[in-house]
Amino acid sequence: MQQFETDIVIIGAGPVGLFAIFEAGMLKMKCHVVDALDMAGGQCAALYPEKPIYDIPAYPHIMAQELVEKLKEQAAPFAPIYHFGQRVEKVEKLETGDWRMETSTGTVLRCKAIIIAAGCGAFGPNRPPLTGIEAYEGKSVFYMVARREDFRGKRVAIAGGGDSAVDWAISLSELTQKLYLIHRRDKFRCAPESASKLKALADSGKIEMVVPYQLHGLEGANGTLSSVVVATLEGATKKLDADILLPFFGLAMELGPIAQWGLNLDINHITVQQSTAQTSVPGIFAIGDIATYENKLKLILSGFAEAASACHAAYKIVHPGEAFHFEYSTTSGVPKVA
Ligand SMILES: Cc1cc2nc3c(=O)[nH]c(=O)nc-3n(C[C@H](O)[C@H](O)[C@H](O)COP(=O)(O)OP(=O)(O)OC[C@H]3O[C@@H](n4cnc5c(N)ncnc54)[C@H](O)[C@@H]3O)c2cc1C
Repeated sequence: MQQFETDIVIIGAGPVGLFAIFEAGMLKMKCHVVDALDMAGGQCAALYPEKPIYDIPAYPHIMAQELVEKLKEQAAPFAPIYHFGQRVEKVEKLETGDWRMETSTGTVLRCKAIIIAAGCGAFGPNRPPLTGIEAYEGKSVFYMVARREDFRGKRVAIAGGGDSAVDWAISLSELTQKLYLIHRRDKFRCAPESASKLKALADSGKIEMVVPYQLHGLEGANGTLSSVVVATLEGATKKLDADILLPFFGLAMELGPIAQWGLNLDINHITVQQSTAQTSVPGIFAIGDIATYENKLKLILSGFAEAASACHAAYKIVHPGEAFHFEYSTTSGVPKVA
C-alpha cells in the first residue's frame, strides 16, 4: 500500500483541478491530485480534445487539449504528484484534524484540506442498449472523438440529437467517405448556426440524415462493424453500411462514492459557499462543475475563479495562525517549491 502526506488533495485533474494546483502553489501549498481517468484534462481531454473553446479569457480560441497542456505547464513548477487511474473511495477525518483518503487501488493520502474538482463525478458515456455493443467498443464504437484523423475515409454513423452529435457530424463530414446522422426526431438541440450548417450539408449530400430512426442493432465480426441497423418507432428497420458508430447520448452523471461523504448535495452537485467554495464540511472545498450555488455558471472560467477562492480559504487551514499577505502574481512571481 502506498502512503503519502501533503497539504491538499485535489480530487479530479480536469481543467479546474489543474488550475487549483497552480493557485495552491502560489500560496506555497503542495498538492497530490487523484483522477479516475488515466490522464489529466477531465471532460476537455476525454470528450472534446480537438474542439476549439472560445470563452477562455485572452484566448480568442484554443483547442481543448491545448488548454489542458497549458494548465499542466502552469502547474508544473509546483511539482504536483498525480495518481491516475484511481478513484477516491473513502474520506475520513482523523483525530489530529487531518484527512485520510483511500483510493480504489489502495493508495492512502493524508492531507490538511481537500478540494473536490470532480466535474460530474466519475463520468461515463450513456451507452445505447444494443446487444453485444461491448465487443465493438474501442474498435468500431467510440463515445468520444480523440483524433479526427482516425475517421478519414471511413463510413461513420453518428447517433444523437444534441450539440456533440451535430457538431461532430459537421466536422467529420469534411473527411469521411460517408456520414450518417441518426436521430429519433427531426429537431436537434443545437445552436441555430450549427442547425443551418447541418441543413446545408444534408442538402448537398455530404451528410445523410437518418430521421426519425433510432439505433436497433450492430452487425459485424470480431469487433469490426459492417453495418448499423436502425428502426423507426413503428419497428421498420433498415441497414446502414458503416465502419464506425459514434453514439453521442451525453454523459451519465454519477457522483459515486462522493455522495457518501456527508456533504450537502443538490441533485448530483455539492452545495458550496460561493465566496470560499467551502462545502458543508469544514476543510472540504468543491469547485468546477461539481460545485453549485445560486446562479452558478457551469463554465471553465467560473471554475478557475472558484479554484482561487478555495485555495485562499484552504490557506487558513493549511497554515493556521500564519498571517496572510495578499500579493499579485506580478509581485510574488512563481514561488519555488521546497
Ligand atoms: C462537448 C463539450 C463542450 C464544452 N465546451 C465548453 C466551452 O466552450 N467553454 C466552457 O467553459 N466549458 C465547456 N464545456 C464544459 C467544460 O468542459 C466543463 O465545465 C469543465 O470540464 C469542468 O471542469 P472540471 O475540472 O470541474 O471537471 P471535469 O472536466 O469533469 O473533470 C473532473 C475529473 O474528476 C475525475 N473524478 C470524478 N470523480 C472522481 C473520484 N471519485 N476520484 C477520482 N477522480 C474523479 C473525473 O475522472 C474527471 O477527470 C464543454 C463540455 C462539453 C462536454
